[in-house]
Amino acid sequence: MLTRRQIVAGAAVTALAAPAVLRAQSWFQDYPFALGVAAGDPAPDGFVIWTKIAPDPMALGGGAPLSPLPVQWEVASDDRFGTIVQKGEAIAWPQLGHSVHVEVTGLTPNRPYWYRFNLGRDRSMRGRAWTLPVAGSSPDKLRFGVAGCQHYEDGFYTAYRHLAEEQDIAFVFHYGDFIYEYRQDYETDKHGLPAPPVRRHALRELYSVDDYRRHYGQYLLDMDLQAARSAHAFLQSFDDHEVHNDWVGNADWQQYPGDPIVPPEIFALRRQAAMQAWYEHMPVRGALLPRHGDIVMQRRFQVGDLATINVLDTRSYRSDQPCGDGFKPRCAEVGSPDAQVMGKAQEDWFAKGLSRSVRWNCVAQQVMVMPLDRRRVQSEPEKILNLDSWAGYDGPRERLIGAMKGFDNCVVLTGDEHQNFAGLLLDKDKPVAVEFVSTSITSGGDGSDLRPGSDVILANNPQLKFVNDQRGYVTCDVGRDEWRTNFMVLDKVSVPGLPISKRQTISVARGEPGLALV
Ligand code: FE
Ligand code: CA
Repeated sequence: MLTRRQIVAGAAVTALAAPAVLRAQSWFQDYPFALGVAAGDPAPDGFVIWTKIAPDPMALGGGAPLSPLPVQWEVASDDRFGTIVQKGEAIAWPQLGHSVHVEVTGLTPNRPYWYRFNLGRDRSMRGRAWTLPVAGSSPDKLRFGVAGCQHYEDGFYTAYRHLAEEQDIAFVFHYGDFIYEYRQDYETDKHGLPAPPVRRHALRELYSVDDYRRHYGQYLLDMDLQAARSAHAFLQSFDDHEVHNDWVGNADWQQYPGDPIVPPEIFALRRQAAMQAWYEHMPVRGALLPRHGDIVMQRRFQVGDLATINVLDTRSYRSDQPCGDGFKPRCAEVGSPDAQVMGKAQEDWFAKGLSRSVRWNCVAQQVMVMPLDRRRVQSEPEKILNLDSWAGYDGPRERLIGAMKGFDNCVVLTGDEHQNFAGLLLDKDKPVAVEFVSTSITSGGDGSDLRPGSDVILANNPQLKFVNDQRGYVTCDVGRDEWRTNFMVLDKVSVPGLPISKRQTISVARGEPGLALV
């Protein structure tokens, strides 16, 4: 057991001074690093390294003792840990589910490092992360991944295994839906026979922080997901399913048809529990620790003068979806002058961060900006909008596109749709920027090249240049004059271990908001 004085001393420990008094020789019933390791939020001089002490992740409290635990960490310049360049000790607090977030500093820019944790006699697997280039440098190239939407029940995380094996990835932007908060009921197949999901959530619905913790535990026990998190640093965001389907602000969508609308003050408690669990499991900085239930998630990453990556939060400050949400024809509320998606403060922060002195301004966010007509049969009388996307919010969308106008180098990266899309963001009819929507790791299950009705969507939306309905991820190869987005896809996720293939590469020439299929 630690004394109060030892804990306080441990909390103040820096890379240089690790008091031997904290060196507990604990020995757990089960491996305490069962949930793996991760890194995130890179800077030129470091990144965050993460782990969580959970010898029995599905048990209450993760099977960890009800006390603070001293965890040692090491960062090396080689994968054999021959040269340890930083080390220290961090406290895994039971208040934070025994998660450990270390903000490593003092590293050299633009190179890989390896890290690991020790607790008593146990040692974690090793992880790897790259530091970013220094702000004043002019890198020739940047390669990064884009992934998200990983409903556990919909399939295997084979795409993550392939993403882990991708070479020269500086980081992965995750657009959210890291977990899905509900268990699916069995459906019936075309013969009327039971069609259970590929895998099964242990919990049916999540309300308390312990529910969310156990749910993250089930997800993170997946070794393909652990492989991706240990191989690359993540720029992690959240979307709706980290809390509840289609939540925005303090408004919850009706949980199930016929249920009463959740009062905002009651929904706020669920959101608070979900946000705490999100923080505990993500490799993010202490600045993202929930305060009074809220996380300030929007943040910016600078890759020399080559790219700025603006990670947005399109949930926390958004007005309730118009017209009762869903895929529906437009109603008057879509044009509401008071509607918000980012909220005023984030909009101002976003506009100020766009720069003419970088080659690419990248907007990494969650829901589709293109206000596409979603009709899948031509005979439907009215245009259909996805009201949970920017299409449901005329004013905020016009302000977003307005902010990017005049910068001829904006690339928007999006998730949520569980399909691949590429298209143009228009001001009137003039292209202002391009948008790449990355599919899902698993959500939606096995796809096919084109979802029925895609021909109608392509015909009705000339700004849309590419659609695909397979699972996978995206890689971006960013050069000084050309941006290439690669759509990587799998044939099935109901069967593990299938190969990945490049379905399409799309090229953007800097200075010309346009798309060329390569
Ligand atoms: Fe999703
Ligand atoms: Ca979503």
